[in-house]
Amino acid sequence: MHVDNSIGAPMPSTPSLSRRSLVAGGMALGGAATLAAERSGPTLSRAESPPAPPAHGPRLFLPPMREDQIADIKVCLRPFRAAGPRYDVEKLGDKTVFHHYGHGGSGWSLSWGSADFVVGRIAATLERRIAVIGCGIIGLTTALTALRAGMDVTIYTRDLLPRTRSVRANGSWTPSSRIALASAAGPAFPDLWERMARFSWASYRSYLGLPGEPIMFLDTYRLEDQRNEAKANGEDHSAAPAQPGKDDFARYDTRIRDIIPAAIDLQPSENPFPVPYAKRAAMMIFNFGAYGDHLLSEFHQSGGRIVMREFHSPADLRHLPERVIVNCPGYAAHDWWQDRSLIPVRGQTTWLPPCPQGRYGVAYRGAEMLCKTDGIMVQGYDLDGLGEMAGVGNAFEHPDRREAARAIGVFTDLFRRTAASRSA
Ligand SMILES: Cc1cc2nc3c(=O)[nH]c(=O)nc-3n(C[C@H](O)[C@H](O)[C@H](O)COP(=O)(O)OP(=O)(O)OC[C@H]3O[C@@H](n4cnc5c(N)ncnc54)[C@H](O)[C@@H]3O)c2cc1C
Repeated sequence: MHVDNSIGAPMPSTPSLSRRSLVAGGMALGGAATLAAERSGPTLSRAESPPAPPAHGPRLFLPPMREDQIADIKVCLRPFRAAGPRYDVEKLGDKTVFHHYGHGGSGWSLSWGSADFVVGRIAATLERRIAVIGCGIIGLTTALTALRAGMDVTIYTRDLLPRTRSVRANGSWTPSSRIALASAAGPAFPDLWERMARFSWASYRSYLGLPGEPIMFLDTYRLEDQRNEAKANGEDHSAAPAQPGKDDFARYDTRIRDIIPAAIDLQPSENPFPVPYAKRAAMMIFNFGAYGDHLLSEFHQSGGRIVMREFHSPADLRHLPERVIVNCPGYAAHDWWQDRSLIPVRGQTTWLPPCPQGRYGVAYRGAEMLCKTDGIMVQGYDLDGLGEMAGVGNAFEHPDRREAARAIGVFTDLFRRTAASRSA
């Protein structure tokens, strides 16, 4: 079993790991102050924003973005590994365990391609009867891929998809979000990533246009007060170039530029918001309710079985009838498999009631809102200017109401200014 140094205890605030400790897989918590100092780059203060121009473009419906509209706050830990997802194989008595976890902020996006890669390797064992541990997005797509390949599949899990960490995510196409560190991923990983991303993208396209819109494209506006604000545009979009000496997260998005709709710079006449710089991109998003229901139904209709069970140590697997086991527990491998190479990256999403009148998304000042069928998702993905280091090393898995209010406040303010500039 692969076990690295132990990680720091859960922290109630927003501690961060230094880049060196991430690379080493070592877990000494770096101070947020050190990180902030490292990051004192060219980014201009948001208070120094130039006066906003009036909004000339299309009049989008502006939903009420208010703290008293909060219907839910969800917190999740991204299962990050510096080297990328774990794919090695372990023998445990007469069992062969294929590990399949550690997809960071890209689990939804890479799920089908990652499942295809793992099931292809399992097929080489000629074993047709397999167990899958876990029913998050990785376990469920692995199980479905194995069923489609003609295997006999049983999922053993503590929770079904609607109760897993997976549904506490943002739910958009972000295939290289905190997927690995460039310096720690092996030389073969970029090619594997590309293969997985292309396979996933093609798989998701086949779920477009279905009743309930499990998968859809959403017009997303990425707004900037200043052109030189170097940060990702939207949760985990990995659109920003790596900042040398600042972080080392791998970014491979340019490899699949030929299949992903590009963001378009908007002219003032096309910009619905009183902010000087705006891009619009058609972004693929995952509506958790409809999509989860679709996947679980397909699994049952294809003859898959689910057994509700919690495992406490790898020795528990000895009692399973299957000899080939795919281990998809996400961040829980940190405890259940004692895998200390997993680093928690905390993230929080806040949900307001759905808004069918306004189907679009906005990313601005480190916060994002997406009007999904499940509700309006609001996330402060980088409210403090830490970039992709935000939440790294933080295992505090409880809602932070103040953070929710700050993220909503970005849009309260933006929409107030938008309404005012329309009537000016
Ligand atoms: C705030 C946030 C936003 C995100 N946004 C995006 C995004 O926009 N796009 C994207 O692609 N990704 C995103 N991610 C990342 C994505 O959510 C994860 O990579 C993904 O959910 C991991 O899925 P998983 O199936 O590996 O783990 P999980 O969802 O944690 O599932 C693990 C499964 O294993 C089971 N299990 C665990 N331990 C045991 C045990 N001991 N016994 C039995 N069963 C067990 C659980 O019950 C569960 O069914 C985001 C993450 C966060 C936190």
